[in-house]
Amino acid sequence: MQPPPDTKDWTWTLRRRCDQCGLSAGEIDPAQFAERAFVAAEEWVQILRSSPAVSARPQPDVWSPLEYGAHVRDVYRLFDARLAQLLSEDTPTFASWDQDETAIAERYSEQDPEVVADELEAAAQVFVARIRSLTPDQYSRRGFRSDGAEFTVLTFIQYFLHDVIHHLWDVTGQQDAAASLALE
Ligand SMILES: [Zn+2]
Repeated sequence: MQPPPDTKDWTWTLRRRCDQCGLSAGEIDPAQFAERAFVAAEEWVQILRSSPAVSARPQPDVWSPLEYGAHVRDVYRLFDARLAQLLSEDTPTFASWDQDETAIAERYSEQDPEVVADELEAAAQVFVARIRSLTPDQYSRRGFRSDGAEFTVLTFIQYFLHDVIHHLWDVTGQQDAAASLALE
């Protein structure tokens, strides 16, 4: 059994607090972007390396921590590639990415949690470095998702942070699980 496809448009999370994970992504200051992205990755690495039931699904149709972790690794990679595109092209449109198809095609459930943890850590290092390299004049650069949703570099990174922090909530049930460790 596979989880139901996630077809929800999550762009509302840029405009109001998410009741589930507790994050107000649209209010995150750019000065916190790199630290937040780094701390969330560290949380994920910790879960992948030390969660006792890392590959067990809590319910048949809910991803295991391993599957979420593999997804989050791919999100770090994908958002890094898209951020590079936002910085090098004028108003690019991103290629579409079906996260549910990817999970099945890449056999997330059969991946080695140690390897996923290492890959996630490496992907996060690259993305965090790219965020750190941003200059304020680049925050307003624009791009489009394939469904027409418009992002700036600023909202793109806020959206990213909600995604990886929301999935921490999916796995731990803790609200804004990475916030306690972030610089606030
Ligand atoms: Zn959320």
